[in-house]
Amino acid sequence: MLSADFGRLNEEVEMVNAGAADMFHLDIMDGRFVPNISYGFPVVKAIAARARKPLDAHLMIVEPEKYIETFRSVGVAYLSVHCEACVHLHRTLQQIRSAGMKAGVALNPHTPVWCLADTVHAADFVLIMSVNPGFGGQAFIERSLHKITELKNLITRENAATLIEVDGGIGLYNAAQLYAAGADILVAGNAIFSAANPLQAMEELKIDY
Ligand code: ZN
Repeated sequence: MLSADFGRLNEEVEMVNAGAADMFHLDIMDGRFVPNISYGFPVVKAIAARARKPLDAHLMIVEPEKYIETFRSVGVAYLSVHCEACVHLHRTLQQIRSAGMKAGVALNPHTPVWCLADTVHAADFVLIMSVNPGFGGQAFIERSLHKITELKNLITRENAATLIEVDGGIGLYNAAQLYAAGADILVAGNAIFSAANPLQAMEELKIDY
């Protein structure tokens, strides 16, 4: 939703409701973990009021454990925290699950997959950042494809049910490659909201490869 026109937020939410997308991805930035501030609870609530699909909140904030309960109370179903922002990642993931949400851990481009060797079971999904977090509309970092493959191998080796989400620089030009590498969930912003036909863009990004 970072790429949505916030002056027409209701229409943008209805457009996603009507399209093939499976959920709403909400990028929450605090100006500390990342060099940008996006939006907070009033906007999340406004989206939640109209959304007919699950809300997936991606917290690019320091001390995300402080806000788990608040995100649950505004209707978020999938909540991811950054590995780099959590001193006690395992505990934080457990707290998210205990609150009744799907627990996700996000990795910055510089963070290797092996950091999750001992926590992958505690995560319902892992979000691989394929750009440096903070801004929409950035170019995809090619190395991310290798990380998806590595993560898929880790999940298989550990016999975990963890899903792989990829976020940043995604469009029709690389969606098939990402699915083939093992991605389960693709996050798209500009590829949908800047498309001449957003409904068609959502449909095409969801092609069963
Ligand atoms: Zn995101």
